Amino acid sequence: MPIRLLPPEVAGQIAAGEVVERPASVVKELIENSIDAAATDIRVEISEGGQRLIRVADNGCGIPAEEVTMAFARHATSKLTCVADLERITTLGFRGEALASIAAVSQVTLLTRPASQAAGQFLRVETGQIVRQESRACPAGTIVTVEHLFRNVPARLKFLRQPQTETGHIYRVVTHYAMAFPHLRFSLIADGRLAFQSAGNGQLRDVLLAVYGLDTVEQMIELRQEEDASSPPLSVLGFIGSPSLHRATRDSLAFFVNRRWVQDRSLSHAVAEAYHTFLPTGRHPVAIVLLEMDAAEVDVNVHPTKREVKFRNPQRVFATVQRTVRHTLINRARESVTAFSSRTWPSPEWQRHRTLFPSEEGLFTTHRLAALELYRADKDDRAPGFHPDQEPQPVGPIRLPLLRVVGQVGGTYIVAEGPQGMYLIDQHAAHERVLYEQMLADYRRQEVASQTLLEPLLLDLDPLLAGVLTEHLTTLHGAGFLIEPFGGTSFLLRAVPSILAVPDVRAALLDILELMHQNDHPLADQVENRLMAAVCKRAAVKAGQTLSYEEMEQLVRRLEQCESPRTCPHGRPTILHFSVEQLEKEFGRR
Ligand code: ADP
Ligand code: MG
Repeated sequence: MPIRLLPPEVAGQIAAGEVVERPASVVKELIENSIDAAATDIRVEISEGGQRLIRVADNGCGIPAEEVTMAFARHATSKLTCVADLERITTLGFRGEALASIAAVSQVTLLTRPASQAAGQFLRVETGQIVRQESRACPAGTIVTVEHLFRNVPARLKFLRQPQTETGHIYRVVTHYAMAFPHLRFSLIADGRLAFQSAGNGQLRDVLLAVYGLDTVEQMIELRQEEDASSPPLSVLGFIGSPSLHRATRDSLAFFVNRRWVQDRSLSHAVAEAYHTFLPTGRHPVAIVLLEMDAAEVDVNVHPTKREVKFRNPQRVFATVQRTVRHTLINRARESVTAFSSRTWPSPEWQRHRTLFPSEEGLFTTHRLAALELYRADKDDRAPGFHPDQEPQPVGPIRLPLLRVVGQVGGTYIVAEGPQGMYLIDQHAAHERVLYEQMLADYRRQEVASQTLLEPLLLDLDPLLAGVLTEHLTTLHGAGFLIEPFGGTSFLLRAVPSILAVPDVRAALLDILELMHQNDHPLADQVENRLMAAVCKRAAVKAGQTLSYEEMEQLVRRLEQCESPRTCPHGRPTILHFSVEQLEKEFGRR
């Protein structure tokens, strides 16, 4: 094919794809525009997960009649004038492409009036073309209505989830902007019901109450930053969960840089490190962290969705976040020592952990790493070889040799002996694997054992988890959960899979839904597998749980019978092997 310039509507759709991934992206862009327009009251209305309708109404500055057609042109913005402005962005928008992108993939109407003008402007845009414009009476501010999102982009339409799930994503966007801007009032009306509202009184704590509820907020601590005299100024504000509050996923970590909700692995890592030894392994903290710094210290022009940022001095930012979180946690711990008796802190269990794992860099870790390397080498050995004159061999099921249990280390690992040396088994990972294979087999035969609760449990979920639950109701049923819709985002839980007969089934189910949501991407494993993996993660013995010799024996025997005994359902190793040769080498016998 000869090289040709793309017709504008095709180019428009391609560019739109970067900005508008799903209904929640539209809501995000429209909210950002309202905030940039200095609105104090932002009302989001959606129907059918935003696919049929998204409407964002604000009481901001409005768009003057003479500029209104420009708003939909690509790269048209009132927020930047020159390249130098890019270095110091103080508005949420600046790329001038949101409205153009949204209009390219939907039908948009705009109704807007600056307080200084008598009449407002009404504008209708269909697949990027203005089809109608007239003067109309309207309140000061702006109302943008987006209808039939992606109707002209079948490829996108196909990837949209069920309305409840998309509503959940929108809920996350609205609540996060409410956290970043506690002095603004946000409302979310989903299919005619008020799903969320913030007071707009400037108190982050009140927003958190509206989002997470009293139970959670009572376990949160306000961040206290140490004096930071160094320049340029960098402030860290927000709330973090006390160690009693933890979650199955990282979804409850939120970071805002100059009020922009950003995604940043290193920031999550900084917080996770600050919680080191405070949380059970495999659990994640809850934290809302707001960073404020000079606009020149951060580059927000990294990605069309503006959710990634680059810091001029990343080390300093991460170190400050980590120190502030750690400092706040330790201060709280000290306060509880004085508040209660000195015996409550450190707890005996915590001390036990300390003595078993004297230091991260200690001997134990070195060996763990060595063993992990061995495990990897071992795995590579078994990979099908690519020899030019040989067909690749399929890898058969990798069975375990018969193992003799020797004992338990740190309440976490089982030490065993086999024909080729020593084996360390991660009891949690191994149990997960055993339960997973069993449960998957039962599921396929439709025979998952289910345990009816003495009394049905009423679950009031937030729209995000309610969406996940509704979307997977049938699969959940097959997995032994008996759940009935109970109006809106409420459900009745009547039965759970027998292996999940844990004391707190409510928390267990919430964890499972969170895990389901987190691992929900187009390339993810099948829903059934993800669900079973999540259930087994919750049901398996935990690290730190002492096992009797018989229990260890039984676990190892069952692991030996698994199809894929060497990894847990999430792909982590269940077992590390120290060969006789390796041990001899390490001890200098060879
Ligand atoms: P950007 O936000 O990057 O400037 P957009 O395409 O989102 O680009 O918006 C284009 C322009 O339309 C904005 O620069 C602003 O001038 C105007 N605009 C959009 N939404 C609103 C609103 N809610 N209130 C006032 N002006 C708005
Ligand atoms: Mg914008």
